[in-house]
Amino acid sequence: SLAGKTAIITGSNSGIGLGVARALAGAGADVVLNSFTDREEDHKLAEDLGREFGVKARYIQADMSKGDQARALVEKAGVCDILVNNAGIQHVAPIDEFPVDKWDAIIAINLNSSFHTIAAALPMMRKAGWGRIINIASAHGLRASPFKSAYVSAKHGIVGMIKTVALETAREPITANAICPGYVLTPLVEAQIPDTAKEYKMSEEEVVEKVILAKQPSKEFATVEQIGGLAVFLCSDAAEQITGQPIAVDGGWTAA
Ligand code: NAD
Repeated sequence: SLAGKTAIITGSNSGIGLGVARALAGAGADVVLNSFTDREEDHKLAEDLGREFGVKARYIQADMSKGDQARALVEKAGVCDILVNNAGIQHVAPIDEFPVDKWDAIIAINLNSSFHTIAAALPMMRKAGWGRIINIASAHGLRASPFKSAYVSAKHGIVGMIKTVALETAREPITANAICPGYVLTPLVEAQIPDTAKEYKMSEEEVVEKVILAKQPSKEFATVEQIGGLAVFLCSDAAEQITGQPIAVDGGWTAA
């Protein structure tokens, strides 16, 4: 059981982050939810989750595109046994037309924020004598697709970062790993279907079948519950010697 441990999950008011938060809370961890918004419904989400699983749950607003806010999230939480870097955005365009502001935002949110949260969390983990760092990378941390230059660059960067952190913490009871999901049907994936349809000159239905699930030999989306289950396993004693690994949950995508 993860009772007594506190998990911070960045970008967790939706999709995979929320799924991972629910799985960790289900295993007994107290959780800190996060996003850049500060709405009543964000705080209520944490309140409801805490009640459902009988754990302490808080929502802390912080914009992961800003390094100081990423560090402040960890400082405000005050304790961090499990750090799940999940916040991420996507934009689809050819590199020579890729909007500079989108490139900067993707690198800041999907890559740089993890540098800042890890830097802030490691001293807390060392003090507690235990820690788990889990980055939600992507199959795009291991493989590329056209029109996703910023995302693929950021996700490959995350895999490199996690390997480095694993080596720096190798003699300590701390592990650092990356979960590399294939396609999971979340708002992030739903939002890129129209743009991808435009790039490939296809209907949205064709994009799901011929572009998205074409990558995934299982022909099925992975689920947020499956990603959450792996995160819980990575926090277990059985996973103590698993560190520095990108672990794919992709229906066979990266086997090819
Ligand atoms: P999502 O859009 O449902 O979730 C993204 C989360 O990040 C949301 O909670 C959002 O509020 C938050 N977020 C966005 N910008 C932020 C910011 N500036 N500061 C703080 N939080 C911010 O999408 P998702 O599919 O659940 O994606 C979660 C992670 O999983 C991302 O890193 C994504 O790259 C990765 N991923 C998703 C898939 C997939 O198929 N859905 C596949 C591989 C990897």
